[in-house]
Amino acid sequence: MSYQVSKMRLTLRRILQALFLALLFSFSTLAMLRTFAATSSRSATITEHVAAVKEEPPWIKTFVGLWPDRSLRSVFGEEGKELVASAIDDNDDNTIEFERAISTTTSTTTTAASKPQTSLDDIFISVKTTKNFHATRLDVIIKTWFTLAREQTWFFTDSDDEEYSEKTHNHLINTGCSASHNRMALCCKMAVEFDTFLESNKRWFCHFDDDNYVNVPQLVRMLQKHDWTDDWYLGKPSIKAPLEILDREHMPQKISFWFATGGAGFCLSRSLGLKMKPLASGGKFISIGDKIRLPDDVTMGYIVEHLLSKQLTVVEEFHSHLEPMKFLKQSQLAEQITFSYSHYGPEMNVLSLNGFNNQIDPYRFLSLHCHLYPNFSFCPR
Ligand code: UDP
Ligand code: MN
Repeated sequence: MSYQVSKMRLTLRRILQALFLALLFSFSTLAMLRTFAATSSRSATITEHVAAVKEEPPWIKTFVGLWPDRSLRSVFGEEGKELVASAIDDNDDNTIEFERAISTTTSTTTTAASKPQTSLDDIFISVKTTKNFHATRLDVIIKTWFTLAREQTWFFTDSDDEEYSEKTHNHLINTGCSASHNRMALCCKMAVEFDTFLESNKRWFCHFDDDNYVNVPQLVRMLQKHDWTDDWYLGKPSIKAPLEILDREHMPQKISFWFATGGAGFCLSRSLGLKMKPLASGGKFISIGDKIRLPDDVTMGYIVEHLLSKQLTVVEEFHSHLEPMKFLKQSQLAEQITFSYSHYGPEMNVLSLNGFNNQIDPYRFLSLHCHLYPNFSFCPR
């Protein structure tokens, strides 16, 4: 009997033990499941966050961790010359300056139903140059405004040049055109610039000379005010009345048209570029220039105004050295889009503004850059 009872007790204990173990197992499984759920929801948040970071504009990546050394330094005298020369390599702070400058206007100009707003990346910027001017004219561009539009700016020249290919991050294009200042050579370069723009699929084509300083944020702002899907030829003439030429096919009739001076810079919208394509692409630009026997910028005006019956829209903020640069007041400089310089013997046509001395900065572009971006690394503080 007692044997029976003790056997029953043993069975009961085993059942209780099994029940306890089952309970313990289910509790721990539950706890494990909860931990796993928490981890996976956190990792989902991280994935979302990474995705969000990836969508941020590329300049943010440049911005993070690259704030430059802002110690006070003198840029005048011999030491200054070295600093200015070395500034070519430390130019990331300009990206920040540019974004600051542009961010003050972008939000106000977007309308709900409008097409996505034009940004710097929608612009194809071309600079015409020649091998003899690489060393004398390109360095100051590379040190200053090129740093704000390195991806968008291309230099069109007439020879291979390893040094400047490197300095421009492989943005130096040898057009194969002749290295001379004659009409044909200039039209040849413009033809290559125009064809390269068409291939780029960008919204805007902006041409400049190698003696131009381009105020990049102002250029972007100006283009944002114009619809690239309409026909726009934006620039500034350097003559007071339209140019009159003889119409060779209908003598003695005359043709008159406006043209934007190449030395002040001009822009064409993609819509207009596509209308010009059948007339001017694939070398036809050179044939037209040859036919009317006029330089590249005049040929552009002839194609747009005479052949396509579209009109030049004057942008007063473009400036070539055909204007006296000294009349631009220091307080107005930030609103302008382009500047230039020239020197005929001892006579200099340059901006009049405070900054570096004339030995360091004879053409005033370094001083202009510091006026626009005082925090740039080579600027005195
Ligand atoms: N240029 C050129 N080939 C030459 C001389 C000049 O492509 O043989 C370019 C030069 O690089 C500049 C433009 O043409 O972008 C105008 O040249 P420059 O400023 O010397 O003369 P301008 O016409 O302004 O008096
Ligand atoms: Mn010039």
